[in-house]
Amino acid sequence: MQALSADEIRRSFVNSTKSQVKAMTLPTGFDELPWESLDFLGWRDPKAPARAYLVVPREEALTGIALNTAATGKPRRGTGLCDICHTAHQVTDVALFAARRAGAAGRAGNTVGTYICADLACSLYLRGLRELEVPQGETVPPQVRVQRLAVRLETFVSRVLA
Ligand SMILES: [Zn+2]
Repeated sequence: MQALSADEIRRSFVNSTKSQVKAMTLPTGFDELPWESLDFLGWRDPKAPARAYLVVPREEALTGIALNTAATGKPRRGTGLCDICHTAHQVTDVALFAARRAGAAGRAGNTVGTYICADLACSLYLRGLRELEVPQGETVPPQVRVQRLAVRLETFVSRVLA
């Protein structure tokens, strides 16, 4: 994706109040992000780790979505799959994120939940740029996985916007 400015990112959010956008902290190392290897920008808030953000370049517009994850402290075992990129992880490296829906539905308390790589680095995993601890069952080439990620991400974004 193309590099974004902090202003463009802050203006893109569809499910956040102005004060939430103001309180948001940009990703650590923002000036050195590997934009050319990213399908979307995703990060955990460095100052509020239960909060996370996705900024997705779409045909219509740049769409930012704020997410929340509940840290359960319960030990969990086994492996889990990211719903967006289908990367397999230790189950503790996949998190259930909830996005408040945009508009009236969100104000009424409706959310959309999905499992995503806990560090939201789906793009880097697909390109082999971040190490994986779990053997992957997936054998399709990275460019196909990137296309599939785009479709799944668009489905998630439309559910938040619907
Ligand atoms: Zn992922």
